[in-house]
Amino acid sequence: MDWNIIDKKWQKKWSETNDHETDYNDKEKKFITVAYPYPNSPQHIGHGRTYTITDVHSRYLRMKGFNVLFPMGFHYTGTPILGMAKRVEANDTELIEGFKTLYKVPEDRIKEFAEPVKIADYFHEEIKSGMIEMGYSIDWRREFTTIDPAYQKFIEWQFRNLKEKNLIVQGSHPVGWCPKDQNPVSQHDTLGDVEPDFTEYVIIKFDLNGVKIPVATLRPETLFGVTNIWINPQVTYQKIKVNDEIWIASPECARKLEFLEKKIEVIGDVNGSDFVGQSTKAPHNDDSIVILPASFVKSDNGTGIVMSVPAHAPFDYQALLDCKSGKNKSITNDLLKNIQNIEPITMIKTEGLGDIPAKDIVERMGISDQDDPKLEDATKEIYSKEFYEGILADNTKQFAGKKISEAKDEIKEWITEIESADILLELTNTPVKCRCGAECVVKLLSNQWFLDYSNKDWKDKAHTCFEKMNVFPNEIRPEFDQVLDWLRERACARQHGLGTKVPWDKEWLVESLADSVIYMAFYIISKYVNKKEIDGNELTDEFFDYVFYGKNDPAEIANKIKITKEKLEEIRKEFLYFYPVDARHSGRDLVPNHLTFFVLNHVALFPEENWPQEIVVNGSVLMGGKKMSKSMGNIIPLREAVRKYGADPIRLTILISAELLQDADFNVDAINGIKNKLESMYEDCTKIKAEEISELEPEDKWILSMLQNLASNVSESMDKIRLREALHHILYDFDSELQWYLKRTKSKQRTNISGILHKIFSNRILMLSPFAPHIAEEIWEKLGNTELASKSAWPSSVGIEFDPTSIQTETLLKSIIDDINNILKVTKISPKKITIYTADKWKSKAYSLILKNVLDGETNIGAIIKSLIANKETEQIKKDPDFVKKTVNDILSESLEIRKGKMNVEQIDENKIISSELTSLVKNDYNVELSVFSESDSEKYDPKNKAKTARPFKPAILIE
Ligand SMILES: [Zn+2]
Repeated sequence: MDWNIIDKKWQKKWSETNDHETDYNDKEKKFITVAYPYPNSPQHIGHGRTYTITDVHSRYLRMKGFNVLFPMGFHYTGTPILGMAKRVEANDTELIEGFKTLYKVPEDRIKEFAEPVKIADYFHEEIKSGMIEMGYSIDWRREFTTIDPAYQKFIEWQFRNLKEKNLIVQGSHPVGWCPKDQNPVSQHDTLGDVEPDFTEYVIIKFDLNGVKIPVATLRPETLFGVTNIWINPQVTYQKIKVNDEIWIASPECARKLEFLEKKIEVIGDVNGSDFVGQSTKAPHNDDSIVILPASFVKSDNGTGIVMSVPAHAPFDYQALLDCKSGKNKSITNDLLKNIQNIEPITMIKTEGLGDIPAKDIVERMGISDQDDPKLEDATKEIYSKEFYEGILADNTKQFAGKKISEAKDEIKEWITEIESADILLELTNTPVKCRCGAECVVKLLSNQWFLDYSNKDWKDKAHTCFEKMNVFPNEIRPEFDQVLDWLRERACARQHGLGTKVPWDKEWLVESLADSVIYMAFYIISKYVNKKEIDGNELTDEFFDYVFYGKNDPAEIANKIKITKEKLEEIRKEFLYFYPVDARHSGRDLVPNHLTFFVLNHVALFPEENWPQEIVVNGSVLMGGKKMSKSMGNIIPLREAVRKYGADPIRLTILISAELLQDADFNVDAINGIKNKLESMYEDCTKIKAEEISELEPEDKWILSMLQNLASNVSESMDKIRLREALHHILYDFDSELQWYLKRTKSKQRTNISGILHKIFSNRILMLSPFAPHIAEEIWEKLGNTELASKSAWPSSVGIEFDPTSIQTETLLKSIIDDINNILKVTKISPKKITIYTADKWKSKAYSLILKNVLDGETNIGAIIKSLIANKETEQIKKDPDFVKKTVNDILSESLEIRKGKMNVEQIDENKIISSELTSLVKNDYNVELSVFSESDSEKYDPKNKAKTARPFKPAILIE
């Protein structure tokens, strides 16, 4: 089968019929969007997942009768493309080779790549072609890039609006920073897409004859328990001038301080060992605090010097032991004598942690050396327990009796007031590398523009929006709440890159995670720009205010931007029709940024009726079980894969291996399996004709009931966006039913089932159509249809009344055939004659009563027997008490659904069904005659006295 030919054939047809172009009409709408791509490379299989899920979702809703808009734009904004252009200009061979060999970019195009827009334009077209080749049902009339003039006017409107609402503020806040580019960095700017994460240390300054010995700590409250200071004797420190003070700190610390708005001047190098044994003065009292050597102190952490709180810090406790025992060779004999009287000072009381918490835990964990990695765990354990449950002891003076979690900030303030504190910000997930290769730092960015995501009212509104919104899968919902809670001010301007200038400060550009949060609204406008019905350069804030809010006089605005009032009103009408966004699709990595910002900015800028309705999040794609990455060399560009395997096999392989949040796996075996399955469905379908369906036999009623079941199950899975489950139902779950049906009809030598098979396949193909649109159209055409499958109605119902009796009939027949096969397997005889005995009438009555008991929760055999004896119709149970136990077991072995089904339907006439339906099957399977008797039949053939063991749904079987 040539998949590429089928792909092209149907893509051409869809495009000729403008199948995916959506305007407003009278139908109910669904506005489905997905995070637009950043065109700095071609898309690979991994990108394909999010877009394929979005396409399946759109196609499904379209078949459900909605007027579905699925548009696409291209995100040019940001620094990565700029960085690449610079590298091309500098003739970076690694990058250029990558373009040539991995991305197959023609050489004459690479030459143009020194100009950033040329890179974006090239990959934009590449990605767009890939999306068309994957069969995505996108309305391309609405396409735009984020550097189009109309888009820039839109972003200016957004920014002015946010500033008016005081949500963009000027201030000084820490940001992740690339020292080379002199630009703030966020996830999109870093190698490996890591969001720089940082933490705040408090620096406490001890005094050494006028020189400051700064220690960095996450636990400033433990100052009350300080016994000494640790310095690493192996490290070369620097003497630096920090503003007006002289400090001793590690070189790394000096560099970090420079980015925190401090004036730093390096005076010279000093050895850590020079300070061992010297005495400093504590800032909070006049105690003398000695400096001691410790190897666990690292120069890249904090200031490279720490204060020692041995009662509460396991590292400190162990290092102090190492000093006192003489194990630490940097200590002179004199000093060794002096430090013997240093004892831990307990200043936090925590239930369950003992008098000296660090001592207890170090002993419990069997730690005997300061370089033992277990000290990390010990530290975490004490820290968290003391933070939440610890009470400050009497020696903490004014803070005594307070909880740590409450007093922490007060203590920080107090140390600051006695002019002995400072702040040090440090990355926690180092190293974070900028895409330019430089290592990122934390910078205190002053007088800069920040989105005030720390604003409580704003957060509250966003929480409200999330509460009302669908989140698929729902298990990811708490992550959004957490992100909202920890979000703080976020720099929204950059010095370099492509994008829109900050409207009131043209030196700066709007950052890429700030200009991509409400662009779904722009898809309404871009259609008119592309049709040249409005001029992007003419758009004004009043225009956007009217389209989005209905503010001001349309005639006046229309006049100003040189369009008719009617056209302007049409745009407004279209916005009101399509908004709000009904589903926003994105990868999981965008949960902590884009998806949350999308909600924040919508609740800030739009009235509640236009807030987003749904977010759908998916995991990533593995390649043969491994993470995909350029360095692993296992990236398959999407277009290359389409040429090799065809669009539909790729779509299904990505979708069938995992539900939304799990990682999907792409491998050659899986894609071959899918191809074979689709090809065999194609083969099966070419053989059947759309014949009229004659009067229905029991097996027809059954298979059509099962088809209805399938349709209900698939629809339910689709509504929950459980696409893996839906696909399994469509592709595989129905096969065993179909086999049984073919066996039944073959044994009855029927020739009139083509109409039924046609109905079955037609419905299955329609269900397959959102997933595998090309092959579905091809088969649909083979099945004799003239209308497109994608334009047909979703088969929520297959137009057949569900027939519970037929389910019981086929279940009975299947279980008898299973029983016969089992007997033959055990006895290994080749059958000459098969006799079946159906249960007596009173047993049916008894069965019903037992079933009712079980459904009511009564499974006590004695109690059931008692109630049956009390009933005249079933009193015969006295002679056969074993029947109850066996029947209860029969019932319990079935699903609740089947039990309830049996309760609701009149019992089938087993004798009649077996006589009429099973004879042909037995003849067909074993080539022997079948005799059927009722247990009560006085004339019956029953040489082995089997008949009396018959139970309802479990007839007795004699094989000779
Ligand atoms: Zn950089």
